[in-house]
Amino acid sequence: MIVEVIVDVSAYPIDRPFDYSVPEHLEALVERGSRVHVPFGNRKVQGFITNIKEQTDFDISKLKEIQSIIDVEPVVTEELLQLSKWLTNKTLCYEIDALQVMLPAALRASYKKNIKIINSSELDENFLALFGKREAVSYDVIEKAGYLRQMKKYLTQGTVQLETVIKQHAKAKTIAKYHVVANKEFIHEQLSNLNKTAIKQKELMEWLLIQQQASFTMEELKETANSNSSTIKALIEKNILEKDKEEVYREISSLEYDDKDQRFQLTEEQSMALAKINHAQDNAESTTFLVHGITGSGKTEIYLNAIENSILKGKQAIMLVPEISLTPQMTRRFKLRFGDQVAVMHSGLSVGEKYDEWRKIWRGEVKVVVGARSAIFAPFKDLGLIILDEEHESTYKQEDNPRYHARDVAIWRSEFHKCPVILGSATPSLESYARASKGVYTLLTLKMRAKEQALPTVNVVDMRAELKNGNRSMFSIDLADAVREKLDKKEQIVLFLNKRGFSSFVLCRDCGTVVECKQCDISLTYHRAGEQLKCHYCGHEEPVPTKCPECTSDHIRFFGTGTQKVEEEIAKLFPYARVLRMDVDTTRTKGSHERILKQFGDGEADILLGTQMIAKGLDFPNITLVGVLNADTTLHLADFRAAEKTFQLMTQVSGRAGRHDKEGKVYIQTYTPEHYAIELSKDQLFEPFYHKEMQVRKQYEYPPFYYLTLVQVTHENVLIASEYARLATDWLRANLSEQTMVVGPTACAISKIQNRYRYQCLIKYKKEPLLIEKLQQLIKIYRTEWMKKGIILSIDLDPSTIL
Ligand code: ADP
Ligand code: ZN
Ligand code: ZN
Repeated sequence: MIVEVIVDVSAYPIDRPFDYSVPEHLEALVERGSRVHVPFGNRKVQGFITNIKEQTDFDISKLKEIQSIIDVEPVVTEELLQLSKWLTNKTLCYEIDALQVMLPAALRASYKKNIKIINSSELDENFLALFGKREAVSYDVIEKAGYLRQMKKYLTQGTVQLETVIKQHAKAKTIAKYHVVANKEFIHEQLSNLNKTAIKQKELMEWLLIQQQASFTMEELKETANSNSSTIKALIEKNILEKDKEEVYREISSLEYDDKDQRFQLTEEQSMALAKINHAQDNAESTTFLVHGITGSGKTEIYLNAIENSILKGKQAIMLVPEISLTPQMTRRFKLRFGDQVAVMHSGLSVGEKYDEWRKIWRGEVKVVVGARSAIFAPFKDLGLIILDEEHESTYKQEDNPRYHARDVAIWRSEFHKCPVILGSATPSLESYARASKGVYTLLTLKMRAKEQALPTVNVVDMRAELKNGNRSMFSIDLADAVREKLDKKEQIVLFLNKRGFSSFVLCRDCGTVVECKQCDISLTYHRAGEQLKCHYCGHEEPVPTKCPECTSDHIRFFGTGTQKVEEEIAKLFPYARVLRMDVDTTRTKGSHERILKQFGDGEADILLGTQMIAKGLDFPNITLVGVLNADTTLHLADFRAAEKTFQLMTQVSGRAGRHDKEGKVYIQTYTPEHYAIELSKDQLFEPFYHKEMQVRKQYEYPPFYYLTLVQVTHENVLIASEYARLATDWLRANLSEQTMVVGPTACAISKIQNRYRYQCLIKYKKEPLLIEKLQQLIKIYRTEWMKKGIILSIDLDPSTIL
């Protein structure tokens, strides 16, 4: 017996299966989709069996043997094996990466296998003897005794069962924190005494001086401050930093709620949408539906009903939500409706717990999985429905290999299982809406809120006018008044602070102008070094202006605000308010996100201050005021999707207010109130926004009119990085069709990450039949020649951001 094995050596230049022979005693366990240990070179590596055959094109006497079988039952189903082939080609990754991504993390580590007796009367005496008095023995005992064939037979009959034990780390987990313990004077003093060669220390001290916060993780110091361990150590010795440990919670057990499942008489819009979806399910049609419904229109209720239909038919369903909206509130609704038939996969689970949920799916013990992106690979064998809620969210795209989009995988699986897909959103992505307009997807629209509440009143506040009136605070007069009013009424307030993503821009506080690239229609990115503004799409550069090009004001400068600064201002303006803060810093530990939400839901605070992550999922009756402090940060992100992202965010945020009986109010503060993304989000006018934004995309040749592929080259040496980016760009330009545009190379907006310099080029095309083939050739050149030089080449077909 011969098997084809995809081996786990992704640094290897060749990506194809290797043939191995199977020793006779292991033959009984060989199955497609099981993992094995095989010799490779002089190492022992893991691999997946992707095929079983009797013949080989190689010299059979020279074939190596597989060493052992890791899985007693296959971990990848036949369907997922096919999917991995498709994924490899679609995302240009190694096949091993496509296979690994489908498995829960626990299976990537080692685990222990036990065989447990279910019905001893059916077992042969000698086999039974292996157990002695025990109920279960380790797989190794059976393998050593040479009883694998019997074991396999009993497993199939169900007279014995496989049990797997994931080694859990029982000890409390801690992470190191570094605190700034010196004051600014002291740091300045140390800076002036510093040895000239201590450049890294100087950089870190200067960085610390401009930070708002005082505590950092190692990761932050390394990645954001671009420092390293020895520099951090040096600052500890200089008594600037101090290190201690903070406990990380593994998980908080599911929070308790005492309410019951609510069932509603569906609204007419809901019933119509549901009827179409159920019709597709009943007729085994792999239709993709785009459910476009304003916030609160009852989309989730439709999902629940459609899943119910799927379960009635004996089938299974996958419900995907973005990780951040995988709140206890959301999962509770599914648990209440479907009870034990639901598996929930979220990042709050330990590796072992995730694996347990995965096993339930594998064994068919549950009918529904609710989870984030990777749950799209749930090994269900008879899918009846796949749902992506908030389909426009960029978290559905994986940012490293394999760079897949969950939507594409969903559609592939729906075709395989002949079942429908539902994409749901209040603000669909332009791509999806364009497909729905063309009839590729079936559009279902919900225009009314389910409980017939009015949409909240949205007030856009012009921050330019505030400045003119002498108000330099981050709070406009109107917003501050509204906060006071709600505090008096003991109602709750959500304040939303857009964090400046990675790119920063220059804005005129008098007229709202942001300096943009004329050719690419995106904001230029501010680079402190040399006070330059750069377009990282086309490479255009110009110095930072000292006067606004529109109104000649000199109030033009770099824009950004920290959460901490806002907190201080809140303390000053509303001294009696109880404030909860939710951002990356306060939600680093497992379960903290849920804990903060629960505290807020229980009324333990008046104001919830947070970043993007509070835009979704919040559904508390007492929230009646939402304030967006700085809408401009997303609006001027150096990304062609900036306007789309702003519209989505504003709509989501507004949807948080007045979801229940009390009327809601929203204030959006901005320096560009006239921008269409802001104007149209006020009344959730998606369609006008869509048409306007499509014109811009057409004019500047962006998706969905053109496809994009992003090619990035990184290296520790800036010259090598730029040289090879140039080589890649030139090679592509020479090899792709003439009408395809190859733009660049340019430095990326984030020009350096983890000490690697980053360069990129963009491929823009309408039709490029050669694309995959040529990119594969480029990858081959890279793997055989460039890789040894330490270069990393990454290719993203259809990137979700270009930073
Ligand atoms: P969406 O997912 O579109 O934001 P939800 O499904 O969460 O909307 O519904 C919004 C609110 O309306 C929820 O509190 C939900 O319980 C309620 N709801 C949904 N459908 C109905 C209905 N048919 N009748 C009354 N209330 C409903
Ligand atoms: Zn101006
Ligand atoms: Zn440009």
